[in-house]
Amino acid sequence: MASTELNIASIPTDLFIGGAWRASATGKRIDVIDPATESRLASVADASVEDAIQAVDAADKAAKDWAKTAPRVRSDILRRCYDLMIRDAEKLAKLISLENGKSLTDAKGEVAYAAEFFRWYAEEAVRINGEISIAPSGMARTLVQYQPVGISLLITPWNFPAAMATRKIGPALAAGCTCILKPATETPLTAYAIAALLAEAGVPAGVVNVLTTSTAGKVSNAILEDPRVRKLSFTGSTEVGRILLRKAADSVINCSMELGGNAPFVVFDDADMDAAIEGAMIAKMRNGGEACTAANRFYVQRGAAAEFSRRLAERIAALVVDDGIKPGTQCGPLVNKAAVEKVASLVDDAVAKGAKVLTGGKAPGRVGYFFQPTVLTDVSSDADLLGEEIFGPVAPIVVFDTEAQAVELANATEYGLVAYIYTSDLARGLRVSEMVESGMIALNRGLVSDPAAPFGGVKQSGLGREGAHHGLLEFTEAKYISTNW
Ligand code: ADP
Repeated sequence: MASTELNIASIPTDLFIGGAWRASATGKRIDVIDPATESRLASVADASVEDAIQAVDAADKAAKDWAKTAPRVRSDILRRCYDLMIRDAEKLAKLISLENGKSLTDAKGEVAYAAEFFRWYAEEAVRINGEISIAPSGMARTLVQYQPVGISLLITPWNFPAAMATRKIGPALAAGCTCILKPATETPLTAYAIAALLAEAGVPAGVVNVLTTSTAGKVSNAILEDPRVRKLSFTGSTEVGRILLRKAADSVINCSMELGGNAPFVVFDDADMDAAIEGAMIAKMRNGGEACTAANRFYVQRGAAAEFSRRLAERIAALVVDDGIKPGTQCGPLVNKAAVEKVASLVDDAVAKGAKVLTGGKAPGRVGYFFQPTVLTDVSSDADLLGEEIFGPVAPIVVFDTEAQAVELANATEYGLVAYIYTSDLARGLRVSEMVESGMIALNRGLVSDPAAPFGGVKQSGLGREGAHHGLLEFTEAKYISTNW
C-alpha cells in the first residue's frame, strides 16, 4: 500500500471477527453514503446478535494470551500500528473525508491525531506500574497491581471515525484487554481500514474484533449481557450514554463515557483579539462544528463584542464550502440529512427569538448535506441552540458585562466537557478556569485534544478520561494484595 491513491473497493466491508473477514449471519448489508454527493460509497455487513456473540467468543479466546503477552511485545505491536497509520495517512484521510464529509485538511489532522494514540499507548504499555507501601498500622505490606479489566466493548461515533477508535483500542491493547469495536454506521469503512492495519501490524486474531450493525441497541445489549464482557467505553450522545449506563448497571460493567458537550467560548475585553479570532475559527469550524468539543456558545464582553462579531463573521463568510475531498475546501457537508435539518431548526428558532444573522443562516440549495457557515448575534437567552449541541458550523454570540456573569453563563448547562477562555490577564484566566465546571479548559487556545492529556467531561458530559496515563487505567482494575512481609 505504498501509493497515496485510495481505492475504495480495496477497503474491507465485512465483519472482522477472530482475525477473519466474514459476512453477517443474516447476509444483510448497510449502505455507506457520501454526504457530499448523497451517493453510495460501499455497503458493509450488518451484524446480528449471533455475530456479536461470536465476536465475544473470539475476544474471550484471545484474552488470556493477550493479557500475559509481555508488555514490550504489546508495545512493539502498537508502535507498528502507529507506523502503518502514518504510512497510509493520505489514503485514510481521503477515506474519512469521503464517508464523513469533513475537509481533507481536517481528515489529515484527524489521522495524525488518531495515530498518536497508538504511539502514546505503545509508550504507556511498558509503564503500567503498581505501588507498594507499608500499611499505616505497620502490620502489613500493601501491594497494588493494575490488571486488564477484561473484554471491552468500544462504541464510537461518526465525527472522528479514526481517532475515536484508536483512542479506545490503543489503551485497551496496552492494558492487555481484548475488545469489540462497534463503529457508527455512517463511517464504518475507516474502522475496517484500521482493523486491516492492526492485523498487518501483528495484532493477534481475536484481540480486536470489529462489527457494524443497523441494530446497535440489540447488538450492544447482547454483548453487555454476556458475563465475559467487563468494560464499556462509549463516545456519543448523552442520550445514548444514559441508555447504555442503565444497561451496563444490570451486570455492573465498568464504564467510561465521553458524552455531549456545550462548550462556552468566553472572550474578555482584555483578550488578544487576533488570537481569539484564530482560536474561535478552530474551536468552531474544525470538522465543520461536528465535534463534542466545538465551541457552542460565544460569550463576549461588551467592549470587545462588536469587533469580535464583525471579524468572526468576515472569516466565516470567507470559508470555502465544498465537497470535503476537493483540494481547497475548508468546510465540507454535515454527516447526513438529519444533521442539516437539526442545525436549520436551531438557527430558525434563534432567529424567531430575535437573533440577527451576520452571515449564512440556511442550507444552500445544492446536492449534499451542506449548511452555510453562520454567525448569529443578539441571541436571546432562551434560544434552543444555547442549551443544545449544535453540531454544525453555527456560531451564536451573546454579550456579557462582568466576570461573574461570564462564569454564571458558562456554567448554565448540564454539560461540562470543555470551555475556551480568552484573556491576557493570567490571574483572571486561572481564576475563571477554576470556577468553570468543565473537565477541560482551553486558556487562550482553540484546541485541547492531545493524546498525552486526560480528555473527558464532568456533569452530563461523561465519566472517566481518555488519553494520558488516565486513559490506560480506565482499562485496568487495581488488584490489592495485603501480606505480612
Ligand atoms: P451521534 O449523535 O453522534 O450519532 P449517538 O450517541 O447516536 O451519537 O451514536 C454514537 C454511537 O452509539 C454510534 O456508534 C451509534 O451506532 C451507537 N448507538 C446508538 N444508539 C445506540 C444504542 N441504543 N445502544 C448502543 N449503541 C448505540
